[in-house]
Amino acid sequence: MRIILLSTSVGALGSGAGGGVELTVQTLANGLVSRGHSVVIVAPRGSFVAGHRMIEVAGATHTPSQTVNRTQALVVPNNSVLVNMWQRVLQLAGSGDHDIVLNFSYDALPFTAAAECPIAVAHLVSMGSLNNEMDAAVRLAAASSPHCVAMHSEAQAATFGTAVARHTTVVASGIDVDAYHFVEAAGDDLAFVGRISAEKGIADVFAVAARSGRRVLAFGVMQDRAVWQQAQEQYPSARVEHVGFLATDELQQHLGVCAALIMVHRWVEAFGIVAIEALACGVPVITYDRGGPVEIVRDGLTGFVVPADNVDAVVAAVHRLGTISRGECRKDANQRFSAQAFTGRVEAWLESVVRR
Ligand code: UDP
Repeated sequence: MRIILLSTSVGALGSGAGGGVELTVQTLANGLVSRGHSVVIVAPRGSFVAGHRMIEVAGATHTPSQTVNRTQALVVPNNSVLVNMWQRVLQLAGSGDHDIVLNFSYDALPFTAAAECPIAVAHLVSMGSLNNEMDAAVRLAAASSPHCVAMHSEAQAATFGTAVARHTTVVASGIDVDAYHFVEAAGDDLAFVGRISAEKGIADVFAVAARSGRRVLAFGVMQDRAVWQQAQEQYPSARVEHVGFLATDELQQHLGVCAALIMVHRWVEAFGIVAIEALACGVPVITYDRGGPVEIVRDGLTGFVVPADNVDAVVAAVHRLGTISRGECRKDANQRFSAQAFTGRVEAWLESVVRR
C-alpha cells in the first residue's frame, strides 16, 4: 500500500505535545515501510521522524482536545495547521500515487470531511470520548464507512458508545522493544511518565509519593504548571522530581532502573503506551482500574491493577512489587506489544479498509 500518514495537529512530531501519538506514528511508519509499503508523513512544521519523507505544513496549532470540555464548541484557529494539512492530504490523494490516508489527528475535520477525499481514509483514534462534537464526527465516519475506525483498546472504544464500538477494530499498540534495555535489578524510585496535567493524575502522583515515602521521578512535558504547584502545596512531604521530557533512548535508561511505573490517571486512558515502554525495560506497572492500561497489565504477573482513585491501594501494591518477575514483564511486552505484532494488526486493518 502507498500510505499517507496524517499526523496530530497539536504540535510538531518530536516536541512531546502529541503525547503517545508521536511514538505511534514513528513505530508504524518504520513497521509499514519494513513490510514493503510506502509512507509519506504530513505533519506540522518542525516535525521530524528519522528515515521518512515528511511534508511539513505551516499554520496555527489547535487547542489540544483533552483540554476542551464535553459541550464546548471545537474552534478551528485562523490559518489552522489542521486545515492546511488536510488540504495537502487531498492534493496528495488526488495525484493517484496513494492508496489510503491513515489519520492520527484527533480533530473533527478528517472524520467529517473524509468523503471528499478521493481515496480511503482510515482513522486510528488516539483518545477516548471527550467532546460531543468530536463524538459526532467519529460516529459519522464509522456510520459512513463501518471499518474505517480503529482504536487502541476496548475500553477506549466503549467510551464512544455501542454504535461506534461495534464497528471499531481494536489494534492495541506496540513499540520497538529492542530499543528498550532490560534491567534486572531496580532501585527504589517509582516513575511517572506522561504530560504533567490534571487528567494524568498529578495530584495522586504526589499523594503516592507522600504516603509511600518513595521518590517519584516524573518524565514528561510540563503542560500545566498550576496543577503541579497545587499538588506540591497539598503534599509538602512528597518527593516528586520533574526530570523533564526526554528522548526515548534517554527515557528508557532512567525508567529502566525504577521499581515501578505508576499510572493514576483521572480520565479513560485510551491505551497508555508508557505502560508497554516500562514493561519492555522490565519495569512492573501499577495502574488504576480505568481505561487501556487494564488491558495491558496482567494483575499479579506484570504489575497490579488497583481500584481507581485509591491511593492507598497503589501504596499497598508498591509493597508487593517483590512478587513480580521483571523478566516476565519484558517477555510480555515482547510477545504482545512488539512493533511487528502491532504493525501486523494495523496492516490487516488498513488492507480491509482499502478493499472496501
Ligand atoms: N514521553 C517521552 N519522554 C518523556 C515522557 C514521555 O518520550 O520524557 C513519551 C512517551 O514515550 C509516550 C508519550 O510521551 O510515547 C506519552 O504517551 P501516553 O499515551 O502515555 O500519553 P498521552 O498520549 O495521553 O499524552
